Amino acid sequence: MKILMASSEAVPFAKTGGLADAVSALSLALAKLGHEIKVVLPRYYSINRAELTKLPGEMGVPVSGGEAWSAVYTAELPGSAKKNPVEVYFIDHEGFFGRDGIYGVPGEPDFLDNPRRFAFFCRGVFQVCRKIGWTPDVFHAHDWPAALVPVFLKYGERPRDFPQAVSALTIHNLGYQGVYSKENFYHTNLGWDVFYSAGFEDWNMMNMLKAGLYTADKLNTVSPNYARETQTQAHGFRLDGVLRYRSGDYTGILNGIDTDLWNPQKDPYIPEPYSAKDLSGKAKAKTALQEWFGLPVKPDVPVIGMVTRLVEQKGVGEVFGPAYGSAWSICNDMDVQLVLLGSGEPWCENEIKSLSYRLANFKAHIGYSEKESHLIEAGSDFFLMPSRYEPCGLNQMYSLVYGTLPIVRNTGGLADTVQNFNEKTGKGTGFMFDDLTPSAIYNTVGWANATYHNRRKDLETMRVAGMKQNFSWKKSAELYVDLYEAARTVSSEDRNPDDARR
Ligand code: ADP
Repeated sequence: MKILMASSEAVPFAKTGGLADAVSALSLALAKLGHEIKVVLPRYYSINRAELTKLPGEMGVPVSGGEAWSAVYTAELPGSAKKNPVEVYFIDHEGFFGRDGIYGVPGEPDFLDNPRRFAFFCRGVFQVCRKIGWTPDVFHAHDWPAALVPVFLKYGERPRDFPQAVSALTIHNLGYQGVYSKENFYHTNLGWDVFYSAGFEDWNMMNMLKAGLYTADKLNTVSPNYARETQTQAHGFRLDGVLRYRSGDYTGILNGIDTDLWNPQKDPYIPEPYSAKDLSGKAKAKTALQEWFGLPVKPDVPVIGMVTRLVEQKGVGEVFGPAYGSAWSICNDMDVQLVLLGSGEPWCENEIKSLSYRLANFKAHIGYSEKESHLIEAGSDFFLMPSRYEPCGLNQMYSLVYGTLPIVRNTGGLADTVQNFNEKTGKGTGFMFDDLTPSAIYNTVGWANATYHNRRKDLETMRVAGMKQNFSWKKSAELYVDLYEAARTVSSEDRNPDDARR
């Protein structure tokens, strides 16, 4: 199949979160299965033009009130196989993307013209196809910034030039939907009747993700459990009704992990490689981690690691919240060491800095560091991830394959990837709790700590069970192929109802 990935992020070019990892890894895995994959991204300011190849000529993109002229650049996605490389196309427009930040900058986290920027990008995706003379079988859009791709396909592009093409839309995080005042609909260049028929309308606002969810031929999110949860009021971010309405076309496909990058047997960031057969390298990683953070090197004190965006979604309020967070009592009451790498909301960064001055056994690095994140995954005994909600989550999977037991909330993809420790059978791969409360976190860390000291054999069995899990992208890519095939079997009449011809 010819598959076009439309996304606002893809590693190594642009990343703010797991979306970027997923888009590139899925593209490479699909190419390995023999499919022809092209990725379209905006050319952000941070992506160096000198490292890309410019396509000759300019490209006009129809926008409200005329045409916006842009350039198109291309590059091969790193990691591509020589035989069937994944090509990335970058839409370059100075006015929309020639600035710092992907969605915003500190102080302005959501640029005011984002609806206009991403409407332009989504329309540009089709112009790139025309420019390079390539007709995809599947337009696969990711998250709200690309959600207008299925909308444009149905309302205009398919009847015009892409009669056989189908669309899929993946939700990587339902918490972000691209909701703007409805005057912004003007930027889509679509008729106002489409505002209602395509599902843009959202309490008198314009919701870009909602329109995509109404319109795409197939939908999915990044874990089966999150697919179920998002159809409930508790986790649906007000779109649970839409997702229930589309439930026949909506599935969950677990993300994989990049097993070349995240593999304790060949990780360049850790002192010594290790495997389930010989864990001595893990002990060395623990020493290196304790030294790195300036903690006393104590092999028998359990280290609990965290690598996270410091935002409410990740449950950091319940761990570090002033006066009520659980970190204070965990570090005071238990002989453990807690290390954190992360950045995010200023209140949380400040609270963490203050706590790390007051607690001898808590160390934090506020910032972003690939190397440190690997060392924390390898050197910790436990990995704490108390997410409020978690579409898939990557860090708990990294933890499992590094023999680090996740302590997670029973939600989203965490519930699909971690098996709670069963004291009767001694089986499991981690420790889970249901309620997002400081006391539940405290108690579960206490449980893990007690298991570490009193049931060492079970703990080692759990480590090995986690390390044997297969989170490769190959499995997930095959499920995406099934999703595309299912979209293609929708009869073309269903895909081309009369109202779509406007
Ligand atoms: P989300 O996309 O919601 O942030 P995921 O667990 O799906 O959560 O993916 C987060 C990715 O970003 C992981 O690869 C994680 O290791 C990485 N990450 C998050 N914060 C940092 C940080 N401060 N330093 C290095 N890597 C980080």
